[in-house]
Amino acid sequence: MRLVLVGPPGAGKGTQAHIVAAQLSIPHISTGDIFRANVAGGTELGLQAQEFMNAGELVPDSVTNAMVADRLAQPDAQTGFLLDGYPRNREQAVVLEGLLAERGIALDAVVELDVDNESVIARLLDRAIKDGRADDTEDVIRRRLDVYSEQTEPLVGYYREHGLLRSVDGVGSIEDITARIVAALAS
Ligand code: AMP
Repeated sequence: MRLVLVGPPGAGKGTQAHIVAAQLSIPHISTGDIFRANVAGGTELGLQAQEFMNAGELVPDSVTNAMVADRLAQPDAQTGFLLDGYPRNREQAVVLEGLLAERGIALDAVVELDVDNESVIARLLDRAIKDGRADDTEDVIRRRLDVYSEQTEPLVGYYREHGLLRSVDGVGSIEDITARIVAALAS
């Protein structure tokens, strides 16, 4: 299966993507995780991404799209993948479609984790304490939520129009949410 998981920062995308990808035996591809690994490793890509991440802004499309194209060309992604945190704007969605179309394939579904703003902020502040992520400070959290509603949320409508969207209630226990995602994918 070729899947995308979309939802605001703090919706629990990473947790669910990890579980669902393992269940489906497909790679979990998180652009945020790849960027963080590159920042930690001090690579050229990390240097390019770091300032945007710390400000809660999107890393430029040219950088992000090239990274995803490389990742999707790896052998483990040939039979399926679960993209977590990509695409994040219309331009990236169009590039992804093109990348897949070149290989004669397309997405099977886009799962939206639907979570209210208050739950999201509470989760992000909790994660800030537990994980100490550099972009989980209050100002940056606010900016990331704005970026989500301005740039990423419109994708939900885009994928709905394309008949790919499966909206899932993202509030509840980890197990319940996983079960909802699995059920939504089966429908
Ligand atoms: P995440 O872990 O998905 O919340 O991503 C953390 C940060 O990485 C984001 O706030 C962006 O700065 C950057 N990032 C992750 N995915 C993308 C993407 N698809 N496009 C641009 N920037 C991204």
